[in-house]
Amino acid sequence: MHSNRMRPKDIQQIGEELAIRWTDGTESFIALEKLRRHCPCAGCQGEGDIMGNLHKSASKPLNPASFKLVRINPVGGYAIQPTWADQHATGIYSYEYIRNLADKPG
Ligand SMILES: [Zn+2]
Repeated sequence: MHSNRMRPKDIQQIGEELAIRWTDGTESFIALEKLRRHCPCAGCQGEGDIMGNLHKSASKPLNPASFKLVRINPVGGYAIQPTWADQHATGIYSYEYIRNLADKPG
């Protein structure tokens, strides 16, 4: 279930961080590297498919381009989809996911 209360009012990259200002007036800062390392897409997280097979391409090494942001597209009013400089763009980050991630240490 997606909450509609919380939306980004403004998203911008500041140095190596993504700065998000929410409609409730709070701000979240997430290092781009942290954001990428927590990419929620199936390829990065190894989610099972409908057949129950586990797909994980963890052997694919991340490189400096993996942590460079090319652009961010809004997705359906509940998430953002970043495109990274290494062409990875399948991660869809819900607003709640991002906010939780920003609050998590490390
Ligand atoms: Zn991913």
